[in-house]
Amino acid sequence: MRRFLLADQLIDGFNDKPIKNAALILQDEKIEAVTTQDQIGRDPDGEIINVAGGTIMPGFIEMHAHMHCSAEPEAFDQVISESHEELLMRSVEAMRNTLISGVTTVRDLGSKNEIAFAVKKAVEDRKINGPRLLVTGTPITTTAGHCNFFGTEADTAENVISALRNQVKLGADYIKIMSTGGVFTPRSNVRAAQYTTDVLRLAVEDAERLGVRVAAHCHATEGVINCAEAGIHNLIHSTWLSADQTQNWDYRPEIADMIAEKELWVDPTIAIATIRTEKGIPFTEEELLASAVLSDMEGRFAILKDMWDRGVKFVAGLDTGMSYVEFGDFAYTPQSMVEGMGISEMEAIICSTLSSAQCLGIDEITGTLETNKSADAIIVAGDPLKDIRKLHDIDTIISQGHLIKRAGKVLI
Ligand SMILES: [Zn+2]
Repeated sequence: MRRFLLADQLIDGFNDKPIKNAALILQDEKIEAVTTQDQIGRDPDGEIINVAGGTIMPGFIEMHAHMHCSAEPEAFDQVISESHEELLMRSVEAMRNTLISGVTTVRDLGSKNEIAFAVKKAVEDRKINGPRLLVTGTPITTTAGHCNFFGTEADTAENVISALRNQVKLGADYIKIMSTGGVFTPRSNVRAAQYTTDVLRLAVEDAERLGVRVAAHCHATEGVINCAEAGIHNLIHSTWLSADQTQNWDYRPEIADMIAEKELWVDPTIAIATIRTEKGIPFTEEELLASAVLSDMEGRFAILKDMWDRGVKFVAGLDTGMSYVEFGDFAYTPQSMVEGMGISEMEAIICSTLSSAQCLGIDEITGTLETNKSADAIIVAGDPLKDIRKLHDIDTIISQGHLIKRAGKVLI
């Protein structure tokens, strides 16, 4: 069927200025045209969705989900104790909640067993509701390493390669590897690397041979350096944590330059601390001690801004499923990029759409509003170029041509 989306303006995802009095014409699952309202006749043949004061833009691309995690304060206890069946049910609900927040493509960056593959297939078969899904399967980690309780443990180069190949065999669209410890995993040592540059480089080479890219979790500076040197396609967090417990950061501008020069993507998971402050959930003493990201938000934003100024390409990942990071929270990511890092609203929106599509290698299909691309569009109730927080208020969602939300009402 044919649909006409009309609004005050349209952000196409690649031009730095919006189109005013805009019209987006959709034919079934594809975009037919991006135009202006005066180009459309008085009585166009199709359904008209007109949002006065609204902004049409590409659907969000969320780069960092853990669909089987609960996002509740007890997320860790739940993921290590719940049955696969319970985790699967959580995942189904999580993907629906992601979609109705305006996310039309999501990358799962690590879930237990084969849950993500099953959920992806169910979405594609339209048995359940969810965004377009790209999945990594289980993350590759060391024995006792970060997220070992839902990852594949692999200590040697040989084991890492086997684990990677096995995920490809299961249907992985991307590979996830844990290059350092993480806060979510007690005793994994967030301030040290889990893999050497050589092991990561072998993983990148083998992934490229198989036509997939690699995303690597890296908090410790040692891990960020290893990932940059190995040419990991997508650095996750890139936190620059010092090996010295008495220091927060050990930022290396020359490595940021290398990341920019090699055109590696960075998913800074920038919203984690913002979400807590915005929701009014105070940090505990223990959390502040464990996480520099929470205790020194300003310091972290300043590092990220310096990376941005050096030309590092950012994508928009949330880390959903971690405690307090809920599946409808996507808009906090561009919000934190603008209010914390200090980039423009348009830049943050492009990080959340086109840049993320490029990092996933699906920018021919989605990420911008252009003729023949997938009909993945949202209408924001307001002007996010004036106030980025308007991205929390989505009037209309269309995902691959299917109407998910209209006039603020969820239809699925
Ligand atoms: Zn994560």
